[in-house]
Amino acid sequence: MVDLLSQYNKIKSQVDKAILDVVESSAYINGPEVKSFQQELEDYLKVKHVIPCANGTDALQIAMMALGLKPGDEVITATFTYVATAEVIALLGLKPVLVDVDVDTFGLNPDQVRAAITPKTKAIVPVHLFGQCANMDAIMEIAQEHKLFVVEDTAQAIGASYTFKNGETKMAGTMGDIGTTSFFPSKNLGCYGDGGAIFTNSDHLASEMRMIANHGQSVRYYHDRIGVNSRLDSIQAAILRCKLPHLDAYCDARRAAADFYDKAFAEVPEIKTPVRDAQSTHVFHQYTLQLSGAVGRDALVDYLQTQEIPCMIYYPVALHMQTAYRDDRYTDGSFPVTESLVQSVFSLPMHTELTNEQLTKITTAVVDFIKNNRK
Ligand SMILES: *Cc1c(COP(=O)(O)O)cnc(C)c1O
Repeated sequence: MVDLLSQYNKIKSQVDKAILDVVESSAYINGPEVKSFQQELEDYLKVKHVIPCANGTDALQIAMMALGLKPGDEVITATFTYVATAEVIALLGLKPVLVDVDVDTFGLNPDQVRAAITPKTKAIVPVHLFGQCANMDAIMEIAQEHKLFVVEDTAQAIGASYTFKNGETKMAGTMGDIGTTSFFPSKNLGCYGDGGAIFTNSDHLASEMRMIANHGQSVRYYHDRIGVNSRLDSIQAAILRCKLPHLDAYCDARRAAADFYDKAFAEVPEIKTPVRDAQSTHVFHQYTLQLSGAVGRDALVDYLQTQEIPCMIYYPVALHMQTAYRDDRYTDGSFPVTESLVQSVFSLPMHTELTNEQLTKITTAVVDFIKNNRK
C-alpha cells in the first residue's frame, strides 16, 4: 500500500546525516531538533502553536484533557473513522456520541451532528478522513451556535486546506479550537517510528496542553494537574525536518496518482471514484473507491490478492458495530451510510512513489476483474 523505502532513498543522505547528528549531539529528548521542527510546522500551517507529542492518539487525548470536560459530557464524532478518535473520548470517561457521515466526502454529516446535540454536548471531533476536510463551514457554524469545542482529527489530512464560503482559506487542523495529527510512518508526513502533534491558535489551550503532555508540570517537579508523558523523540523530529519541505510535493504526487486512477475508472459504472469537494483540497491519504453492482467487493479484494496487488478495506467495521463500542443506543441500521460504506469501500495503493507501470497494472487488474464478472 505504501513504499517508504523508495521515498527514503531519495532523501537518504540528508536523513542519515540528520539522524547521526542527533546521536552525536546526545540531545535525545526535547533537543533543539524538536523545537526547530515545532517552529517550522507552525510556519507551514500558519498556526500560533504546535505541540509535538508521542503519537496521534496521544494528541487527541491531550486535546480532550485540555478542554476541562467532566465525566459524562458528550463528544460527537463519526462512526466511520479509525478507532483512536472515539477511544480517547471513552478512555477519559466522556461519552462518544457517534453520527453518520456524508456518502461523498466521508466527513461528518452536519445535519446528523445537529440532531445529536443535547445539553451535555461539549465538543465535536470532525475527522478529515482519507485526506479531505469535513464540511467545516457547517461544523464551525453549529459549534458557534451551541458553544461547542471543535477538535479536528487531522491524522490523515496534514497539508490539506479548506476554503470557507467567506473566501478565507485555512490549513486542515487549524480551523477548530485544536487540531491533532499523527506522524505514523505511513501517514502523509510520516517519521520512522511514532510521532504526533497538536495545533492551536489559543495561548491558553497551548499552555494547558504543553503542561498535560509533560506530566502536568510547567515548572519541573511542581505538578499542577494530572498529565501524561508524551514526547516526540529528537531523532523523529530531525527526520520530520528533512521531510516537511517535501510535504507539498508529496501531496502533489499522491494527487497525480489519484488522477491516474480517476481516469482509468471513469468508464466503469460499478466504481464510484473519490468525490473531490470544491472547498477542500484532497491530499489522498487513501484512495478509497465504492463498488456497487453484481461484482462483490470481497471477491475483487480476494482477486487482487492473488495478483499480488495490495488492497485494503478502510474500514471493515463501523465503530458502533465494534464489540468495545456497542451500546444500547445503536442497532443495525442506525447509520445507513456508514453501514453501506463498510460493505462497499476498498482502497488501492496510494503513496508518493507509484509509477505509471504500477498504476497501469493495478487499474487493469481491477477493470478486467469487474468486466469479466458482470452477470
Ligand atoms: C492514524 C490515526 C490516528 C492515530 O494516530 P497514531 O499516531 O497511530 O496514534 C488517529 N486518527 C486517525 C483518523 C488516524 O488515521
